[in-house]
Amino acid sequence: MEGTTMRAVLISLAFILSMGTALADRPLTQEESERLNAALKQEGCSGGKMEFDDGKFEVDNAVCADGKTYDLDFDGSFRLIKKKSENAQNGSGPAGKTVPKLVLFLVVDGFPQDQLVKYYDLYGDRGFKLLLDKGGWFGNNHYSHATTYTSVGHATLLSCAHPYKHGVVGNDWIDKNTGKRLYSTEDARFKYLDEDTPEHSGTSPFNIKVTTVGDELIYANAKSKVIAIGGKDRSAIGLAGQYGTAYMHSATTGRFITSDYYMKEYPGWWKAFYESMPQNKYFKESWSLLLPEEAYARSVSDDRPWTRKYKELGTRFPHPIVGGAKEPSKAYYDAMMWSPFGDLLMFDFVKAAIEGENLGSNPAGVADILALSWTSHDYVNHLFGPESRQSQDQTARLDRIFAELFDYLDKRIGLENVLITLSADHGFMNIPEYSASRNLDAGRIDPDKMIEATNAALSEKFGEGKYITAWWNPNLYVDYKLITSRKLNKVEVENAAQEFLRDYPGVEAVFTRTQMEQGLMPATKLAKQVILAWHQKISGDIVVMNKPNWYLFAKPSTYASTHGSPWSYDTNVPLAMYGPNWIKPGKYGDSEVVDLGRTIAFLLNVRPPNACEGRVLSEALN
Ligand SMILES: [Zn+2]
Repeated sequence: MEGTTMRAVLISLAFILSMGTALADRPLTQEESERLNAALKQEGCSGGKMEFDDGKFEVDNAVCADGKTYDLDFDGSFRLIKKKSENAQNGSGPAGKTVPKLVLFLVVDGFPQDQLVKYYDLYGDRGFKLLLDKGGWFGNNHYSHATTYTSVGHATLLSCAHPYKHGVVGNDWIDKNTGKRLYSTEDARFKYLDEDTPEHSGTSPFNIKVTTVGDELIYANAKSKVIAIGGKDRSAIGLAGQYGTAYMHSATTGRFITSDYYMKEYPGWWKAFYESMPQNKYFKESWSLLLPEEAYARSVSDDRPWTRKYKELGTRFPHPIVGGAKEPSKAYYDAMMWSPFGDLLMFDFVKAAIEGENLGSNPAGVADILALSWTSHDYVNHLFGPESRQSQDQTARLDRIFAELFDYLDKRIGLENVLITLSADHGFMNIPEYSASRNLDAGRIDPDKMIEATNAALSEKFGEGKYITAWWNPNLYVDYKLITSRKLNKVEVENAAQEFLRDYPGVEAVFTRTQMEQGLMPATKLAKQVILAWHQKISGDIVVMNKPNWYLFAKPSTYASTHGSPWSYDTNVPLAMYGPNWIKPGKYGDSEVVDLGRTIAFLLNVRPPNACEGRVLSEALN
């Protein structure tokens, strides 16, 4: 065959071959390769083998800023659509399912479901929207228990147990042995490291009677790390479980500290982080609106008559955040947590912890859990209500922080290795005076006055005495010794108290110990919520449920608004999960908060926590 003919055959053969694979795979044009290189550089990566495949640009084995090798995919406009670490444990688990390298368990304190969706249009693409648009989102997720407080919610979240089992029945209750107030996470045997431990400080999980997903993960793989960080001791400790490590904000020094339950000495990264006093860096800041004025039309204006002058934060924008302090000190460390700067402060520490502990890159090849409780949202809602511009602004700012956190993890370990979940410890009520201004039946109950009135009614019937000794949300404690010593009938006294309280202003329903112990509860949802919240050995004796929009809390006027009720504004909280390797994107319906922990344990292939009652949310799983 002549040279020219030979060449013609080869060319047409090459043409046929390239035609055959044109749709599936082709080399890049000069322009495409320049643009792809630029897009790659923006992701902090370079090198690798480039090709066009299935309508997208693929780069295999690029080396990125962390020195690791990745496969990256870009869409037709050179936007990143996938970044996968070469050493991801793809398909390494049962049923060909990979196990997450990191579970990022996000809790926003005091965050009702409606607040997550109400500001949807104000979010960036990579914060809450990553979960709402690209994740599985359960729009009708509820707490099943009636007592929607911080400690109760945090003890429930990762144990997937109800309070009647986990034993954390409130933020505080009365210790049956001492007759004194017991704070949910206090444990006098343990002290904070490197600073004083005030009375009733949270130092250990002793009062949480069950295990968490993190505990079961550590049981399965002793090398797994479980780190919980929160603005409140009770939130960090609840999420850390028995074997994880809790870091909680100290209002005394502005640092995220721990106790000698968890360790004897701070790790090197912690000491290095606090050497430069990073907690002082926001001192000169003040809190003003993030978005243009028009964006806040959906919220109620600030400086309303019923918002509180609290910690010198003021009632309108811009809010000073220093607590009246002249220099960084306790007043500032405390006050700033009641503003979005509390979230920024925690974010700084979170990054230090991820780096210091190398979370998500466990050398043993096992999963880690990072559980974060963002406290400032709850505080802002207590002062200004969930209907306020302040609460809207704080939420929009938290969205920016989440976007940064997700990007940070993506660059460090690849987001495809991370299972991200979002929930809350409870929702929130509107400020009762605001509800009243909208013609709803709303008001405030003062527990001390309620005890006084109940004792007066009981005294009239059974003789002078202090039959009700104390109140801790939402339980009244009965002096059964007094009843016995006077040879009174216990059930008659309980019933008389119940009858009196039923007519008390703002009270919806009242249940007694005898009713609950003997199965004499009505067949209502409310009664079931109370039963799940009530621990026979730990709880009080008469449970008082407030009417909707009525404020019932130990401090009747300290805060503008609160939570703690069985009503849906308090029980309906977010449940969203993101992680394309495990979660099928979509909007889903009914779930209970306890389902989240059960689902995570399932994805991690570990035992369900020992008192878990959730179900696996299999409809949202790949
Ligand atoms: Zn709260």
